[in-house]
Amino acid sequence: LFISFEGIDGSGKSTQARRLHDSLRARGLDPVLTREPGGSPGAEEIRQLLLTGDTARWSAETELLLFTAARRDHLERTIGPALEAGRPVITDRFADSTRVYQGATRGDLRDMVDRLHALTIGTEPDLTFLIDMDPATALARGLARGSGEDRFEEMGLGFQQTLRAGFLELAAASPDRFRVIDGDRAPEALAREIAAIALPRLGL
Ligand code: C5P
Repeated sequence: LFISFEGIDGSGKSTQARRLHDSLRARGLDPVLTREPGGSPGAEEIRQLLLTGDTARWSAETELLLFTAARRDHLERTIGPALEAGRPVITDRFADSTRVYQGATRGDLRDMVDRLHALTIGTEPDLTFLIDMDPATALARGLARGSGEDRFEEMGLGFQQTLRAGFLELAAASPDRFRVIDGDRAPEALAREIAAIALPRLGL
């Protein structure tokens, strides 16, 4: 089973991905926990290129190609082999992040995002948890790191609102794959709801 977690920065998705991973392990499965951009040695190198350095170095189109190249490597080296070995894969972000970060924020790139995906990736998770959260709440709760770890986190509340709307739109368009989780609750409550959805899908 291929599971992705999506959401804006500070939504708590990384914590929830880790908790699901831990609870599958505790039940005797051998899950893979991975992330994007990154998740394989080559893709982690591309992550470094993308998240650090001069924002104006590349056009939005070139940046899209780099995110897609990283995903292709992640799929070839990490996700594909794990799924073939029968291991559940949990990824912190996948193609929906590109649809939203590179597509929803740049309407004119949507077509390119979709065509590149079809051409070079061509696969979707079986199950996607969207941890939905008002960016202002995330900030107020101190969840949004704002650590300056990467340049995307510095783009402001309006940008985060656009991202949130973009994710919700994707979820509405693919209700079979998406489960929207209200992120404005205690982490334990989220983890319980997520486990209750994911475990039966794994025969647990
Ligand atoms: O999830 P994580 O915080 O590790 O993501 C790293 C950064 O990359 C985030 O700040 C996110 O905004 C950005 N990103 C992006 N486009 C993607 C995936 C992530 O701009 N397709």
